[in-house]
Order: sequence, then C-alpha cells, then structure tokens
Amino acid sequence: MISWPAPFLPRIPGTGPTLHLYDTSAGQVRSLAPAGRVFTMYVCGITPYDATHLGHAATYVTFDVIQRAIRDAGHAVRYVQNVTDVDDPLFERADRDGVDFRDLARWEIDLFREDMTALAVLPPDEYVGVEESVPMIAGKVLELLEAGLAYRLPIPGADGTDIYLDLASEPTFGKVSGWSREEMMAVYADRGGDPDRPGKRDAFDPLLWRGARAGEPAWDGGPLGPGRPGWHIECTAITLEHLGIPFDLNGGGSDLVFPHHEMSATQAFGLHGDVTFARHYAHQAMVGYHGAKMSKSKGNLVFVSALRRDGVDPMVIRATLLDHHYRTDWEYTDADLERATARLDRWRAALSGNAAAAAEPLVATIRERVCDDLDTPGALAAVDDWAQESLAGKGTDPTAAGVVARTLDALLGIRL
Ligand code: ZN
Repeated sequence: MISWPAPFLPRIPGTGPTLHLYDTSAGQVRSLAPAGRVFTMYVCGITPYDATHLGHAATYVTFDVIQRAIRDAGHAVRYVQNVTDVDDPLFERADRDGVDFRDLARWEIDLFREDMTALAVLPPDEYVGVEESVPMIAGKVLELLEAGLAYRLPIPGADGTDIYLDLASEPTFGKVSGWSREEMMAVYADRGGDPDRPGKRDAFDPLLWRGARAGEPAWDGGPLGPGRPGWHIECTAITLEHLGIPFDLNGGGSDLVFPHHEMSATQAFGLHGDVTFARHYAHQAMVGYHGAKMSKSKGNLVFVSALRRDGVDPMVIRATLLDHHYRTDWEYTDADLERATARLDRWRAALSGNAAAAAEPLVATIRERVCDDLDTPGALAAVDDWAQESLAGKGTDPTAAGVVARTLDALLGIRL
C-alpha cells in the first residue's frame, strides 16, 4: 500500500559518525552500520485502530532519528514497515462501532499517514499490509507445516484446524529477549498469547494460522484451509519477502520484545535454518499518561491528531518526544508541550538574528549526542546552549543560523 510523502532531507556539512545503539538481544550498546551496501531496517507497524497515540509516535520518531543518523553517516537505507490490518482488536472495534473492518482500517491508516507527515517522519520504502499479503504468508505457514516444524490442532466445535509452530524444533527460541520461561509467561497472555489452549505441545507455541470461525473474517488458505495468519508470522513473512534476512535492524515498542520479536525471529529460523534474523534489535520505551502505560485497554490515550486539532504545532510534539530518552519509560503531561513550545520559540528567535554563535561545534555535538545511543535530550540541550549564546549577542557568524536550521531538520527532523 502507499506510505506517505517523504520530507525533504537537507544536506549539511561533513559526515556523521557511526551510530552506537543499545541492542536488546546483546544487552549492550553496539555500533550499528550496514553489513552490506544498504542499511536494512524493519519496524513493526500499527494495528489500524486507536492510532496514532503518543506511544506510537515515540516509536516512529525514534526509528526516524535512527534512519537520519544512518543517512548522515553516508549510508543508503531500505526501510520496510507493516500494517496489521488483519487482527482481532481491529475486528472487535469494527463490530462495536458497526462498521466494516476494512473501512475502519482505511480511515485509521489515512490518519496515521497524516500524523507521520505532520511529524516529518521519513516514510518506509515499502509499506505492507497483511491483507494484501495473505497468500504469501499462507505459503510460509505451509512451508513450516510441510517441513514438520508446525502442527494442526482441531478447532473446538467447528470444522477446520488451527496451525501452531512447534517450538521444540527451534533451538533459537529465547535468543532475542534472553528471558526465562517465567519472565515470558508473566506477559504472554496479555500480549496476545494463548498459553492455555488445550492440545498445544508447548504453552509458548505461537499461532501461525487461525482456522475460520463463524462470524470472523477469513481468507482462502489453500491447503491450510480458510482462515487468517497469526500475528508474528506476518512480520516474519513480510520481512523475508520484502527485505530478506539477515537484515540490520528490527524495531518497535518495548512491549514487542516478547513474544512478537522473539517469535518473528524463531519462525524465520524454521524457514531458513541457521541464519540470523536481525543483526540488531532496538526498542522504544513506553509512554504513560495519568499513572499508567498509554494503552488501548486503559483508555488513557493522547492522540497526535487530537493535539494537532487543538492547534499544537507538530514540531512541538516532535520536540516533546525527543526530550525523553528512547530507552526510559516516561509519563506525558501538558507541561511537556509548554516546555517544548517555549524551547522552539527560543530556537526560532536565535535563528532569526543577524548573527549567531558558530554552527560547527553545535553540529558536531548534535551528531555526537545522537550517535551515543540516541541521546536526543542531550542534543536538544546543546541547541538550547547555542540559542542562549546567540540570543545573548555573543555570536558573530551571519551564516550559522542557516546551517543550524538545516542540521535540526536533517538530524532531528525539527523544521522551524
Ligand atoms: Zn511486527
């Protein structure tokens, strides 16, 4: 499906250093550069309902800054993102609201595109829906079944079967998260798992194909029977089809570490044998509101579109997100917007003078902060210092403002 318009990426002097980024799988900060000619990244996309709240926006802005840093270091990037437009919560919401799930998905995806455009997020090269990929995904499930790595379970009270991956055949299971089974079990059911389904060989065996049930949308699965893909196999299959493995970076929110990214990688092992799935995993921490993680189930969502409707400058939203380190959970308050608004006002004033403090040290500091595990709060603080110095009349460089403005745009995605 179409993504959204690409913002212009200005050129700035010099080349950025190598990005160093925490790798969830390795448990440490590692350098991140393309293994091949092009940097390849896959970031898990939205389920198109209740988007785009600030938690989503934080994720896509974080991976946007990563992409900008990789490009600044002189590399080309190939970026794939999916849309989970076949999923229980989407069907449930459409039923509740009395609309066709495809209409709901289309409206929500349109809204997401508008939000990403407003936030100046670079679009993926390929934006891939699950519904348009069902035959391809079904083909991957069939491969696993025919290789003896998956098994069928009869659907209670109905014809047909569900299909599960047999984790006992997957020695890489657990490598992405590094979690114990106890840690996995603590979150599994809350994150779409079905540990108590009778007949499963292992409580963690992920659902690959859900056989058709009365009243649920279903697609032709060929030899699999009618039904629809499980959640994790969609990302495995879309990655294999549109990016290839191994690829450089797999990302998403920190609630995707397990089971989603764990299962995505495990299933790829089943399909491809002893091949790394992603070389590097990065995860955006959770954003809270009113004392709890922002989530659909709690209803404590702050939407980018609602803020925009209230007249909030999208760049203020972006600056708010960047003022929190991507690996630290934080809680949003209205004061965040006030602080970011005042900050961008100061920056605009500094950029509007006849002369400003020298740009080169600031450009170097922003690059250094961003490439140090995405210390975006540090980068913003450096711009504050530059603005303060410039507004105090200490700068004499008439060309600095232009360079700084282009740098803020190119590296941080903040256009003033
Ligand atoms: Zn995914």
